[in-house]
Amino acid sequence: MASGTVLRSHAGGYLVYEPDLDTVFQCAARGRLKKERVSIFTGDRVELDELNPEQNTAVITTMLERENLLSRPPLANVDQVIIVQAVHQPEWNPLLTDRYIVHFQLELSPVLPVLCFNKCDLAEESELEALRSIYEPLGYFVIFVSAITGRGIEDLARSLADKISVFAGQSGVGKSSLLNCIEKGLQIKTGAMDHEFGVGRHTTTSSELYRLSFEHFPEIRASQTASWVGDTPGFNLLELKHPQPAEVVWQFPEILQLAQECKYLNCLHMVDNDCNVLNHIDDISLERYNSYAAIVSDAQLEYGRRQVSSQKVEANVKNVGGKAGKATQVPRLSTKYRIVSRRREKQGQFEAIDTDDDSIDAAEIDDLDDVANDDLDAVAADSFDATEDDTSSDENLD
Ligand code: GDP
Repeated sequence: MASGTVLRSHAGGYLVYEPDLDTVFQCAARGRLKKERVSIFTGDRVELDELNPEQNTAVITTMLERENLLSRPPLANVDQVIIVQAVHQPEWNPLLTDRYIVHFQLELSPVLPVLCFNKCDLAEESELEALRSIYEPLGYFVIFVSAITGRGIEDLARSLADKISVFAGQSGVGKSSLLNCIEKGLQIKTGAMDHEFGVGRHTTTSSELYRLSFEHFPEIRASQTASWVGDTPGFNLLELKHPQPAEVVWQFPEILQLAQECKYLNCLHMVDNDCNVLNHIDDISLERYNSYAAIVSDAQLEYGRRQVSSQKVEANVKNVGGKAGKATQVPRLSTKYRIVSRRREKQGQFEAIDTDDDSIDAAEIDDLDDVANDDLDAVAADSFDATEDDTSSDENLD
C-alpha cells in the first residue's frame, strides 16, 4: 500500500506527496473517512489506493497516526519549530523568546524548538556567547545566522534536511530573508507574530508545505530525501499558550530542577522565604527567571479570569442527576431557597477557629454548597423534565 504526506487541501481534495514515486498526487478522501468525520490536515500521513501515475490521481484510504498537531497554522507531524529572533533590530527580547518557547513546547511536546538568532552581523561575539550560554545548557539547539553575510545559513539548511519545519518569530526578525537564502522564490505565506497585544495578520485557515530543493547546498541536496517548510504562524501575544500557574515550572528545566528540592509543596517560587529556587536564584539566568515569573503572573491572571467566567456560567445552570454523560442541565436554585449544608456549617466553624486561613476560596465554598443542594436541584430537574414541553425559558423554572 502506498503512503504519502498531505501537502495541502486542494479544490475539495488533497495534494499528497508519495516518496517512492517522488510524485505529488491529487487525491480525494474515501467517503468512509468523511462519514467517520476524520479531519485530514496538511502534514498528515495517509495511505493511498487507486494510484494513477498518468493523471497523478489517487484516493486516500486511511489517515495514519498523527504525532502532533500545531494549532496555528494547522499543521500535523511537525518535526521542529525554528524560533527566529534578531539579536538587534528589533532588540532581542528574552521574555518574548521564552513565551514562544513555552508556547511551542506545549504544542509539540516533547519536541524542543530550535533557537535561531539572526542579524548576527549587528552583534558583538560576546553577545552571541552570552545567548549561547543561556540556552545551550538547557538542551536547546542554538544557531547563529545572518541573512546579510550568510553566516550560519548552511548550518540552518542542514538542520532542515529530511524534516517538516516551521519558522516562527515576530515580524522584522528576518524569517523571509533567511528562507530566501535557503530557497529562492519560496512562495511561503508569512503570518505576522505581533510583538504587541494587537491584531496580527493571521494564517490560520489553511496551511501548506513547501519543498526545499537545497539548490545552493549540493552536499545537503545529495543526502536528503525530502524536506519541507510550513507556513509561518501568525498570531499576537495574547494567543500564545501558557499552562496553569503551578505547571509553568515544567517548561523551565533549570527552575524545575531547583523546584524539586523546594520544601514547600504548592510553592510558585516567587515569594516564599527559604524557597529553594529563590535561594539558588544566582545559579540560573536572571532573564529566564524573570520570564518564568512573568509567565506565572500571566497564568494567574488568566486562571482567575477563567474561574470568574466559569462561576458566572455555574450561577445560571448546573448538571445534576446524571451518570455516564446523561446529566441534565437545570437552572441553579436561587440562594434564598438553598439549605446550608452540613459541610458548610462545619466550614463556618472552621473559619471561626482559623479566620486567617485563606486556602479555601470562594469557588470551593460554592462547590460545598453544590453538594448540599444537589438533592434540591434533582427535584428541580424532575420538575424541569415534567415541564420541559410547556416551558421555554429559564425564568419559568426558577
Ligand atoms: P520577517 O518579517 O521576519 O520575514 O523579516 P524580513 O525577512 O522581512 O526582514 C526584515 C528586515 O530585516 C529587512 O529589512 C531585512 O533586510 C533585514 N534583515 C534580515 N536579515 C538580516 C540580517 O541578518 N542582518 C541585517 N542587518 N538585516 C537583516
